[in-house]
Amino acid sequence: MVRHDILQLLAAHLQEYVSGERISQQLNVTRAAVWKQIKVLKEEGFEIEGQTKNGYRLLKMSLSLNEWALKQALTTTSLGRTICLEDELVSTNVRAKELARQGGVHGQIVLAKYQSLGQGRLQRQWESPRGGLWMSVVLRPDLSLADASKLTLAASVAIVDALEELFQLRIGIKWPNDLVFNGQKLAGILGEVVGEWNAVQTLILGMGINVNFPRERLSAPLKATTLYEILGYEVDLNILAAAILKHLEDKLISLEKKEFEDLRLSWLARAVGLGEDVRILQGEQVLQGVFKGISIDGALILETKDGEKSFSAGEVQLRSKMSGYF
Ligand code: ADP
Repeated sequence: MVRHDILQLLAAHLQEYVSGERISQQLNVTRAAVWKQIKVLKEEGFEIEGQTKNGYRLLKMSLSLNEWALKQALTTTSLGRTICLEDELVSTNVRAKELARQGGVHGQIVLAKYQSLGQGRLQRQWESPRGGLWMSVVLRPDLSLADASKLTLAASVAIVDALEELFQLRIGIKWPNDLVFNGQKLAGILGEVVGEWNAVQTLILGMGINVNFPRERLSAPLKATTLYEILGYEVDLNILAAAILKHLEDKLISLEKKEFEDLRLSWLARAVGLGEDVRILQGEQVLQGVFKGISIDGALILETKDGEKSFSAGEVQLRSKMSGYF
């Protein structure tokens, strides 16, 4: 894509002028085409100065999603190597499922700058204004269906690790995979199995992270926060996405080697409500007990008055007493 080639050329000479003539010659396009693409890049948030005499110079990379920038930031082998980035999608999970059914490769990612109908668990809606990281990953791992819930746990820990690594933040995980900061939701994860797991073994991992926008962009009743609210500045979405994918890939490799213990402990170290009195909502049913931990199968363990019970990630919600069981 010419736009990416121009970006590459300018980025290779960051802060220096590159003449329009040189760009047009090197990429074999007209000067008018160069100018047009520069205009689009500026609209995407790249700070580019243009001077008739000297040409163009890239002053600052854009913080919003950009395929070229994301590829530069990636350090993975399989995750994110095929990218589908759209300005707007109904839901990245929906598109990822379509791609998976059409034979999409393992590790393919789908991103949208805006989702018109982002999905939460149990048919709930996920509000997805511009500035967030709305990303789904198509996974065809060497794992059995019983391990699917471990993958969603892996996704939560991958996001937590990335946020800690990049911004030194300590984020909590609320069963099974909501990420919270001071009791407010920062991110959610939606894992969906596509088709017959045993035949195709495809899982879509959707992640929604509230990043570069103020809290007011989300509807008032939500107990939500954004990275922008926490940090006070905007961050590079490409770098964040790349860091998450790297952590996720590492965890996936461990799971494929049947290693779950490190992940289980990392998850528990961040768990909200651990050792506390909680309520488990299973459809209409409500169960009360102490949240003991997660089993070696990745199920939640609840100590009830009738003994220990375990629940897999898909079926329940957890409400802690600390937050008034909400
Ligand atoms: P739960 O935490 O109840 O399991 P989900 O993971 O399914 O919920 O996420 C959907 C719910 O999250 C919605 O019903 C809404 O309450 C809340 N929500 C929706 N969009 C956002 C957002 N961008 N940030 C934080 N919370 C949100």
